[in-house]
Amino acid sequence: MSHSHLIPFTEMAKLLAHRGLTVTIIITPLNAVRYSKIIQYAKNFNLQIQFVSFPFPSQEAGLPEGCENRDSVPSPDLIPNFVKASNMLQEPLEKWLQGLESQPSCIISDICFPWTSDVSLRFNIPRIVFHGISCFTLFCSHILSHYKVLDSVTSDSEPFSVPDIPDRIEFTKAQLPEARKDLKAAIERYKEAELSAEGVVVNSFEELEPAYVEGYRKVVKKIWCIGPLSLYNTNEISSCEHESLKWLDSKKQSSVLYVCFGSLCHFLPQQLIELGMGLKASNHPFVWVVKEGDYSTEFEKWLVEEQFEEKLEGRGLVVRGWAPQVLILSHPAIGGFMTHCGWNSTLEGISAGVPMITWPMFAEQFHNEKVIAQVLKIGVRVGAEVIMKWGEEKKLGVLVKRENIKKAIKQLMDEGEEGEDRRERATQIGKMAKSAVEEGGSSHLNMTLLIQHVMQLVSRDDGEN
Ligand code: UDP
Repeated sequence: MSHSHLIPFTEMAKLLAHRGLTVTIIITPLNAVRYSKIIQYAKNFNLQIQFVSFPFPSQEAGLPEGCENRDSVPSPDLIPNFVKASNMLQEPLEKWLQGLESQPSCIISDICFPWTSDVSLRFNIPRIVFHGISCFTLFCSHILSHYKVLDSVTSDSEPFSVPDIPDRIEFTKAQLPEARKDLKAAIERYKEAELSAEGVVVNSFEELEPAYVEGYRKVVKKIWCIGPLSLYNTNEISSCEHESLKWLDSKKQSSVLYVCFGSLCHFLPQQLIELGMGLKASNHPFVWVVKEGDYSTEFEKWLVEEQFEEKLEGRGLVVRGWAPQVLILSHPAIGGFMTHCGWNSTLEGISAGVPMITWPMFAEQFHNEKVIAQVLKIGVRVGAEVIMKWGEEKKLGVLVKRENIKKAIKQLMDEGEEGEDRRERATQIGKMAKSAVEEGGSSHLNMTLLIQHVMQLVSRDDGEN
């Protein structure tokens, strides 16, 4: 339960409901409040979407009360407790299923809930796994494990290539979550639950990474790419009146860099200051989102003492808290996106057709950087090299210096042949993304095929009974 999973998941729920299906979202009370907009949306469009909310056993699992989302887990040491609490939802889910008059036709569960495979078996309900990551990541991880590549890599910093894939891609062990011993058991469990599912739904689109979709098709029973899911929610938020959108209205087309690092990773005040200085030195207009958790007295003091915003004289806007990212990215004034390479942000940048500066930090963000910079060639690297354990960002201090930040911004935003080619490629890929979700597009068709497949499974079971 984190925004990067709940946002695409609820978008998928809307899509299914728009196809005439009844959708129940299993959720917890505080997340239900945070995502209540979907219920209003369902009412407006007369869609069958309901929440079934189970209390999240935060305290029983040793978490603070009200800790129901990854963004409110106070420290990385408590992640196992968060996983434990999530696992404890199996019992209420089974009780709820027992009480139903008729069973659901299908369970679609996030990869992070591998125990739903037991529920599916016990109740004989087909199960499909939802992936909020790319097929590139899925296929590279599969290849690395299939050929046991990591076994022969001794150093954390020695680059090695991924064999048998269409692009020449190098990683270091330090960039891969699967190289971390503490994640090994969880990854194996996810894998097992994925392979026993009827198939996987991926928030990606076929034209984006055809060879990797095809590669992964041979690994799982079925695969349906139905994204980019973010492209479906622009209507809903188009009424949004955020200060940043008004500010962007006054800027030249493709002139502004949007800077945002997702919902989870955090910076030390020193790194934020370094970033601020890099943005200032670049001389390019920017919108910089500083999330609530990064906000500190030290940082605010710096902003005031430096007269950071005043001295920019309208060239930069600092947004404190949550920004309407999808809308900002699709504003015509945006010409670049500095991102931590979370898959949702990556896909949102791709869909908006903007080139990106990549600054990966943890999870599969280094994979996504390779997709942006090497496979699609629509990005410039800021030069981050080592994966951080979630929560460790704060301990590590300044990892990327202002000179490198300035250099990457100049490279991305400055006109010139290389920059223009990159921008043109990004525009074309953005168009492909939009076509994929339109009627007749690949993702639209895959949604139809997914529903048909589930219906076949249900009628096969009805026949057998
Ligand atoms: N997001 C947003 N406003 C913000 C920060 C994040 O709308 O100020 C959204 C963003 O559009 C994306 C999600 O939060 O859909 C972040 O997911 P991602 O996979 O990029 O990164 P994570 O949060 O998992 O690190």
